[in-house]
Amino acid sequence: MVNLVLLGAPGAGKGTQAKMLCEEYRIVHISTGDILRENVKKKTQLGYKAKEYMDRGELVPDGVLIGIIRDRLLKSDTGKGFLLDGYPRTVVQAEALQEILSEINKDLDVVIDIEVPDDELIERLAGRRMCRCGASYHMVFNPPKVNGICDICGDKLYHRDDDTQAAVKTRLAAYYKQTHPLIDYYSKKGLVRPVSGSGGIEDIFQQIKTVINMIME
Ligand code: AMP
Repeated sequence: MVNLVLLGAPGAGKGTQAKMLCEEYRIVHISTGDILRENVKKKTQLGYKAKEYMDRGELVPDGVLIGIIRDRLLKSDTGKGFLLDGYPRTVVQAEALQEILSEINKDLDVVIDIEVPDDELIERLAGRRMCRCGASYHMVFNPPKVNGICDICGDKLYHRDDDTQAAVKTRLAAYYKQTHPLIDYYSKKGLVRPVSGSGGIEDIFQQIKTVINMIME
């Protein structure tokens, strides 16, 4: 059993790796981006509130996210281990996470930082195509078998509203200003393990597995 956080800029491959890792270790995948998009789709009050920030590429306010992550972590399935993908994104969120975890007698085992140079991130986000089933593709680096169609469920792929050029710029700026300081925050706790996110999907997966297996030994 392992409790971990995946850190990395938008486009670093957190979502793709998160899915593979959660299958491998049979732990719960908690993606705050997915939870927010689900709320936008269902037109909930939370969804309305979050959408304007998300479309601009800005972070949704901390108070909203802390409530979401608290509700999710209190569910009993997190007892088998969990992976946080897209949370925390600010030091305030990381501090709140620490409080929630101590309330439920849990702790983080490791924080994996997936490192990818900026020019590569921008190229990846521009070519990224998503499916409502959660699968993610890239038109050049990881194309579906049939153009525009998901290999897994056959649904039509879409380009995320916040993968547009303007929103990507804002998301990267938000990452460096608000999220990057978390590397320092978690390094001081001795939890950070950097992994290069520049290679192929399977290579990166193997590198992360090596890190987790060492931690679990
Ligand atoms: P993601 O799918 O993780 O890239 O998240 C998509 C968008 O959802 C982000 O650009 C933010 O607007 C919002 N979001 C997701 N997670 C968080 C978070 N922990 N804090 C603030 N905003 C978030």
